[in-house]
Amino acid sequence: MIVKIKRDANQENVNQLLAHLKELGFDVHSSFGETYQVYGVVGDTAGFDIRSLYAFQCVDSVIRIQEPFKKVNRKIKNEDTIIDVNGIKIGGKEIVVMAGPCSVESYEQVDIIAKAVKESGAKILRGGAYKPRTSPYSYQGMGLEGLKILHDIGKKYDMPVVSELMDKDHIPQFLKYIDVIQIGARNMQNFALLKELGKLDKPILLKRGFSNTIEEWLMSAEYIMAGGNDKVILCERGIRTFEPYTRNTLDISTVPIVKKVSHLPVIIDPSHAAGKWDLVQSLSLASIAAGADGLIIEVHHQPEKAFSDGAQSLKPKKFDALMKNATAVATAVNKTL
Ligand code: PEP
Ligand code: MN
Repeated sequence: MIVKIKRDANQENVNQLLAHLKELGFDVHSSFGETYQVYGVVGDTAGFDIRSLYAFQCVDSVIRIQEPFKKVNRKIKNEDTIIDVNGIKIGGKEIVVMAGPCSVESYEQVDIIAKAVKESGAKILRGGAYKPRTSPYSYQGMGLEGLKILHDIGKKYDMPVVSELMDKDHIPQFLKYIDVIQIGARNMQNFALLKELGKLDKPILLKRGFSNTIEEWLMSAEYIMAGGNDKVILCERGIRTFEPYTRNTLDISTVPIVKKVSHLPVIIDPSHAAGKWDLVQSLSLASIAAGADGLIIEVHHQPEKAFSDGAQSLKPKKFDALMKNATAVATAVNKTL
């Protein structure tokens, strides 16, 4: 990191700062300009709160050079991480599409949707059994029963299943019935939960919080990896902006940025980004063109009657059309689907 000293700084205070940095184990290199003194501070600053230096009156500004994340950093591991979900590889040459309803509603509902999305080429079946709803009066999900339905239908169509976990007490249920544990936008910074996930040997689909920076998102992935679980798939699902045309704004730039700074796979959820079914195809194609490793898309055979997120759910026919166009874009960027 680089520390710039105020012009009128008291030298006694500067000396205290330098002693403090050395005590912390950092090497300090000075550089004196005509008007400012600047110090280059060398050492492992990953766990260091650089803002703490502003407590010294002499400090004008502090700039971090080293990223605060380590295990997710491409500088630590240069080759792309490929996560194997029952033989399906996420992060390689193949674009993996996960699809299914927002909520598991019944065995028949999931059966109809799973059959359709499988036929169109989806590899992983999604479905929420524990739903994080803004209102306590909205549909909260089927719970354990929903996980069992997802599991049974996943077996029927030979599809691994992904579902959202909200409570650490449910981990045993997820270990038994679910192949990929989804952590939703609202729990991205539930650090107690992230620590528990670090202890598991299970792929985690970590969604970006709608008000979180890319660095905060990567730090959440770091929590899981620091605990010992390196099977993390990042998922961009749109962020809050001032734009009301969409439910969220899909931050497509996350794809090349994450690819540059991290080795982890990154997928896109165009459904929660758009909030409207008629935008889902465009965002999906753009995501593949940008280099995403996969998509997670909400599909419902009767979106008008869906218990949640019907407005953004594609009917199977529309999903099938999307998959055909997605295959063409995948080929154009030298990937398969
Ligand atoms: C979902 O996948 O249905 C969901 C609630 O997603 P998010 O956490 O991105 O809002
Ligand atoms: Mn949803």
